[in-house]
Amino acid sequence: MAIVVMKFGGTSVGSVERIRNAARRIMQEVDRGYQVVVVVSAMGKTTDHLVQLAEDITSSPSKREMDMLLSTGEQVSMSLLAMALETQGYQAVSMTGWQAELQTEKVHRNARIVSLKGGKIRAKLDAGNIVVAAGFQGITEDGEITTLGRGGSDTTAVAIAAAVGAERCDIYTDVDGVYTSDPRFVTGARKLHSIEYDEMLELANLGAGVLHPRAVEYAKNYKIPLTVRSSISEEEGTVIEEATSMESNLIVRGVAFEADVVRLTIGYEKAFNGSLAMIFTTLAQHNIDVDIIVQSIVDGTTPTVSFTIKKEALSEAIQVLEEKKKELGFQVADFEVGLSKVSIVGSGMVSNPGVAAQMFDRLRQESIPVKMVSTSEIKVSVVVPQQQMIQAANALHEEFRLSEIEVQV
Ligand code: ADP
Ligand code: ASP
Ligand code: MG
Repeated sequence: MAIVVMKFGGTSVGSVERIRNAARRIMQEVDRGYQVVVVVSAMGKTTDHLVQLAEDITSSPSKREMDMLLSTGEQVSMSLLAMALETQGYQAVSMTGWQAELQTEKVHRNARIVSLKGGKIRAKLDAGNIVVAAGFQGITEDGEITTLGRGGSDTTAVAIAAAVGAERCDIYTDVDGVYTSDPRFVTGARKLHSIEYDEMLELANLGAGVLHPRAVEYAKNYKIPLTVRSSISEEEGTVIEEATSMESNLIVRGVAFEADVVRLTIGYEKAFNGSLAMIFTTLAQHNIDVDIIVQSIVDGTTPTVSFTIKKEALSEAIQVLEEKKKELGFQVADFEVGLSKVSIVGSGMVSNPGVAAQMFDRLRQESIPVKMVSTSEIKVSVVVPQQQMIQAANALHEEFRLSEIEVQV
């Protein structure tokens, strides 16, 4: 019997009514003859509320206790959904991350999966159950509960799909597919029929919250066909796949943006060989993710290195750098908040050197200052003031004519 994995996000299980609706979609797949594994997120804004409760207690909660707290959200929705299925006469069983043997590294709040054998889930499926697994959570070797980072239930779903050999993984959410940009903020954002894994990976990494980046990474590595679709409407969603035929060769496929970016700048009287390595090794040891890095060593000027991190990592980054100031050998460390990152993504950029120029020119016309730039073969990112993030995203969406029907170039 073929297996399908269905993942329902927070809004899609946000009320009793929505849970019943999810159950109905699941029963349809069972009736079509599939064995079904369901992965759920916490109901509605539960995770946000739990984070807020912790912040009301302390400004620096321990990461371990945060994981203990946050993992409860998914356990509420998984059991309610299993009950909703049972009341309809379908046999269902819920499973936590540890019951499903989803093992992660020993990192709290942003753990990577290290193994998921799938045997426990398969056994429950073969016993005639619909398995309802908690998204977002795992267990370390030593039995500690971890979470996979915000939005991580998508990753649980794809990892389970790979582990049980599912035919496909469907992500049910509150939009009916992947759009050229976030439809909540960008006028004219258009639904894509399909998108390549690599483009989707860039969009997700650059802030398009519709999919957790690691979910896309696993789907690509394990060749799992992934679909994003609405949990309410029956409309066809967006397929994420190896190579898209009709729509390939577009220069820019999407615009992504991310708020709450902080730029840290470190200045040296005299840079030394190895200073860069030492800073970033120290930050990596504390699991502080660094994004855009710009080093400037020019004769006659003060050597500096600037890099961006997420706002929530700022206090830890400053603390770590200050503690090691002597060892790292820098004189000044400064930071700038209120920044954001706006990016254009598309696999057709590789052979189009004018794309970045066009992007900068449009931002100039919009009077949006560009503070940092980072490019790769398939994206250009700029750091701009957060106040102008949505303006920049809309302008670039228009500039690259993303709302128009795609044609091959
Ligand atoms: P879920 O709770 O189902 O996981 P999320 O809130 O994590 O849902 O993701 C869905 C949201 O992602 C949408 O409501 C939309 O605002 C946002 N989003 C951001 N970028 C995109 C995009 N390119 N296409 C579609 N949705 C996007
Ligand atoms: N509940 C978690 C969050 O809100 C995980 C998820 O929804 O994917 O981030
Ligand atoms: Mg999500």
